[in-house]
Amino acid sequence: MSLRMIGAFVAAVTAALTLAAPASADVGAQALNLRTPFDCGQVWNANTRTNHNPQLSVDFQRSGALGKNVRSSAAGVVETRRDLGNTSYGKYLVIRHSGGWKTLYAHLNSFNVSVGQNVNTGTIIGKVGSTGGSTGPHLHYEQRLNGVVQRVVLNGVHIRYYGNTSITSSTGC
Ligand SMILES: [Zn+2]
Repeated sequence: MSLRMIGAFVAAVTAALTLAAPASADVGAQALNLRTPFDCGQVWNANTRTNHNPQLSVDFQRSGALGKNVRSSAAGVVETRRDLGNTSYGKYLVIRHSGGWKTLYAHLNSFNVSVGQNVNTGTIIGKVGSTGGSTGPHLHYEQRLNGVVQRVVLNGVHIRYYGNTSITSSTGC
């Protein structure tokens, strides 16, 4: 192949990749493959609603939610571990992942990790609770890219906005 042919080939491949590339948030989510933050096989209802704050947050609900394991959606480092008392997120964690992604886990009953700790996909980071401004045990969950809350994608699947999605966790299976 001549240099000129190689140049044309590279240009063609680059053009194809550019055309095929979906929105940047999707690329990041799929590359990272953020996982459902629960034990393998557990079924949860992922609730989204327009009056949620932040609006793209997810509340994970199920019967017997209190005390269930909360697991990291991906590998990363624990960036924030705070207790806001009876307001807002209550006990919450933020995990920093690669590519500008972070996940947030709120209303926890207790923590299993400390700030600066490295975690893997599926590491138990806390227990589901009802701390802060919560009226019943559930997990408030956010996926953030460069500080902006995104529509949640789990295991490569977009959850429903706005409404309910039944999700079976495959984390650590
Ligand atoms: Zn919430």
